[in-house]
Amino acid sequence: MVKKGTLLYGGKAKTVYKSERPGCLVMEFRDDITAFDGGKKAVMKGKGRYNCCVSAFFFQMLEEKGVPTHFIRMLDDHTLLVRALSMIPLEIIIRNIAAGSLVRNFPFTEGQKIDPPLVVIDLKDDSRHDPMLNDDLILALDIVTEEELRTIKEMALHINEIVQEFLSEKGIILVDFKLEFGRTEGGIVVGDEISMDSMRLWDANTRQSLDKDVYRFDKGDVIAVYREVARQITRGKCEV
Ligand code: 5GP
Repeated sequence: MVKKGTLLYGGKAKTVYKSERPGCLVMEFRDDITAFDGGKKAVMKGKGRYNCCVSAFFFQMLEEKGVPTHFIRMLDDHTLLVRALSMIPLEIIIRNIAAGSLVRNFPFTEGQKIDPPLVVIDLKDDSRHDPMLNDDLILALDIVTEEELRTIKEMALHINEIVQEFLSEKGIILVDFKLEFGRTEGGIVVGDEISMDSMRLWDANTRQSLDKDVYRFDKGDVIAVYREVARQITRGKCEV
């Protein structure tokens, strides 16, 4: 068992520790749930486990399809061993259906299909409320090179195809989701998490929310929804 070392970074729902293995980190998914820049928060028993299992499941699926991620393996049901990355402070959001901030900020109608999918990139900076960027701003801020930006967008759209197809077979619509990327010596890889906290998911039949919107907008029993979605997604591969 790889032991967790000193605390490296404590986020709103995850904690990252050093590990005794060089180049590896321990990423712990906590039961904390937050929304609206941390303005709303709670602790929900089991939530860390569900998000950890779903993230591990998607990372494994992506690796099998040739998409590099930071995932190495699960250490326990709420902890991953991951490769240390130099994180790129961008939130890459892929949108297949109009919802959330897209509908709040632009004249789209909620539920409107977006084809081809939109890639929206926000600056990862809570103190500035993650402002939306464009390519010129990203390059002017020297966050990534033009080539890295192209790679990140291509990878994000490819991941969207993989995850969208998988979820649609489960009767779940991938409305939108957020990815984060980091650098290794070998190039750009997917980091952070892919979970109900970072995806917007709708039941294909009822269009009910199956993600953090349940918590954001008091739509029901968040933990029951997370448990059921995690069960559907990881069936047979990860005990939840
Ligand atoms: P929106 O811009 O509509 O609020 O979010 C679009 C998508 O990206 C949603 O699936 C949302 O969960 C995800 N997302 C946007 N910003 C963040 C963030 O700061 N943290 C997480 N975990 N997800 C985010």
